[in-house]
Amino acid sequence: MLFGLPGFRVLDVRCIDERGTRWVLVETIEPAAGCPACGVISDRVHERPLMRVKDLPVGGGPVQLWWRKRRYRCGEPACPRQSFTETSAAVPARSRLTGRLRHRLATAVARSNRAVADVAAEYGVAWWTVHRALVAAAAALLPAPSPTPRIGVDETRARSVRWLLADAGWRRSDPWMTSIVDLDPSGGGTILGLAPGRSGACIEGWLAMQDPAFREAVEVVAIDPSAPYAAGLRRALPGARIVVDHWHLVRLANAVVTEVRQRVAREQLGRRGRRLDPAWAHRRLLLRAGDTLSPAALARLRQVLALDDPSGEIGAAWGVKELLRQLLATSGPRYSRHLVAHQLHRFLDACALAAMPETDRLAATVETWWPEIEGFLELGVTNARTEGFNRVIKQVKRVGCGFRNQDNYQRRIMLHVAVSRAA
Ligand SMILES: [Zn+2]
Repeated sequence: MLFGLPGFRVLDVRCIDERGTRWVLVETIEPAAGCPACGVISDRVHERPLMRVKDLPVGGGPVQLWWRKRRYRCGEPACPRQSFTETSAAVPARSRLTGRLRHRLATAVARSNRAVADVAAEYGVAWWTVHRALVAAAAALLPAPSPTPRIGVDETRARSVRWLLADAGWRRSDPWMTSIVDLDPSGGGTILGLAPGRSGACIEGWLAMQDPAFREAVEVVAIDPSAPYAAGLRRALPGARIVVDHWHLVRLANAVVTEVRQRVAREQLGRRGRRLDPAWAHRRLLLRAGDTLSPAALARLRQVLALDDPSGEIGAAWGVKELLRQLLATSGPRYSRHLVAHQLHRFLDACALAAMPETDRLAATVETWWPEIEGFLELGVTNARTEGFNRVIKQVKRVGCGFRNQDNYQRRIMLHVAVSRAA
């Protein structure tokens, strides 16, 4: 009872060293078993081989567990199988590990982001044993994604580029991954899957592996303005509406402000910005949302532009960025065709007046992606959750404990998410 391994009784216990290692001998309680070939129950024990099984520590010390197995002789004369060995649910077939140890190994890694080797050392098993436990747990814990009307697709950098020695020579390993997330507000916002790469083919391939019911259910897909994703999605989900959400567009607009600031510094000073230059010192202030700035912050911004923006170009880029934000703020319940047309006009007008290569490019992006941006404004779909999962992915990545292939890496992220949701 104290040992608590279901279906087993303890025959003998000894303490075998000063570390408190307990040598435990067990056997199954059931005195008979069914032949796996013919099903006839036999209680004629033929042999009692001893098998070493790895198990959890007990009472603060390691355990050396031995199972005195029963090898039965089959009682059915016509049966081709003359003998068979008993099995137990607590020790999975062909395993040298108890199920409870396997479970502990998988959750120890998945729940805490600990390195596989670290967990392996604590439980006195090989790293591949922990890895296999993790893979098995992932398969059991991660069901096929259930159909949802809204999904988000986003790219994330998994790790730096690596060169692997494969069959015929060196192969470049793709450090990018694509995450697919449930964006339905009534759903849990779960991560549905990960696909290696960030091409149209990779999202197409992932969708092809899902149930037809899953593909048919998708009505809206939120993406960043990425032409390969859009092309792959149009092929895989011809009936779904693709939308581009504001988060990525604001990021592009901020990048424009930064590029213009850097170019102006180069042109005015003939060098890169430094700590003493007001525009460099207040570079974050330039990127903050204009409508959230306090009167003092606004005054500081005006001062920075007066001092460090003689050509007015940084100010123009800032205005373009703010007008794009105002356009994107007319989404969801605040959407009206008239208001959106008005704000789009103001934004494009400001880009035309600014007449800089950076703002021209932003205007071109918004025009190219206008149907998808308008879709976002109309439906108010946001990819914010996808970004949240990217943080989880990066957190798992930071631990970076030798994932030899991307498959393992993905499994670990998926499992991490599944375990943290279950907890
Ligand atoms: Zn038999």
